[in-house]
Amino acid sequence: MLKCDLHIHTTASDGVFTPSKVVLRAKEKGVQMIAITDHDCLSGIREARICGEETGIRVLGGVELSTGGKEEIHVLGYSVNEEDARLNAFLQEMRNDRRERAEKICQKLAFIGKPITLPASCMQGEKALGRPEIARAMMEMGYVTGIQEAFDRYIGVGCPAYVERREVDTADAICLLRSIGAVPVLAHPSLIRLPDHKIKEAFPKWLDAGLMGIEVFHPCVPASHRKELLSAAAYHRLLVTGGSDFHAPGDKHADIGDMIPHWEKISEDAERLLAAIRSAK
Ligand code: AMP
Ligand code: ZN
Ligand code: FE
Ligand code: FE
Repeated sequence: MLKCDLHIHTTASDGVFTPSKVVLRAKEKGVQMIAITDHDCLSGIREARICGEETGIRVLGGVELSTGGKEEIHVLGYSVNEEDARLNAFLQEMRNDRRERAEKICQKLAFIGKPITLPASCMQGEKALGRPEIARAMMEMGYVTGIQEAFDRYIGVGCPAYVERREVDTADAICLLRSIGAVPVLAHPSLIRLPDHKIKEAFPKWLDAGLMGIEVFHPCVPASHRKELLSAAAYHRLLVTGGSDFHAPGDKHADIGDMIPHWEKISEDAERLLAAIRSAK
């Protein structure tokens, strides 16, 4: 069995483990292949790959793009060309937007009497700043007892310190990934904030743009939804992927490798992804 975890965040975006620590954790958990899929950022891949070579863990370079606005449509890209100028320019814009958004969220928090200061590391280098960092700062201040509470009461959609992100068209993001030889996969469909019929309406557009897979085995995709997603993937001849979406121990996601026991055809699906990556190049 090819034990893999194809959705992992590091400190390059909103995770708490460095890329090396992620690889060591994968090793500890008996995972043989991982994909680093930081939000809007590729800078964690290199360190993970080096550590992977040293420890015998295969590392795929990936990325997770947030599209839509409030809708939270996420697209994973596998085997991205880390040097690609167009992709890097797009990601840089997204990271700038993330910083501006974080500043606005902080202003709103201060306005409602919950001021925070983000750690300097959040504003440095190529870090892709995300709301989990804001939630962690709120915990530090004692405003909330956990990340979930911060999202539910303050920074989630519809909450007093919510700030919408800039809208990126999902089909455009898929096209961009295809144009650089990456494999685009629709992440955790159950988390898309759109009614079912709206998703079904948009889906053909994403297929036309070049969508190649659906992430089915994810901690936020309930087992009851998997069957439907697997049939959709089979019907449209799409890849099936899965992963923990690991960010930090004990948050609402899972630990590295935790989706493996739930993913029946893991080896077959992973081999199909690897074949798709080879032919996408
Ligand atoms: P942002 O990218 O700034 O919009 O933040 C959204 C990210 O926060 C998502 O991609 C998730 O990874 C993470 N997230 C959302 N809700 C939660 C939660 N309740 N607990 C932990 N992480 C969350
Ligand atoms: Zn995240
Ligand atoms: Fe996501
Ligand atoms: Fe993610």
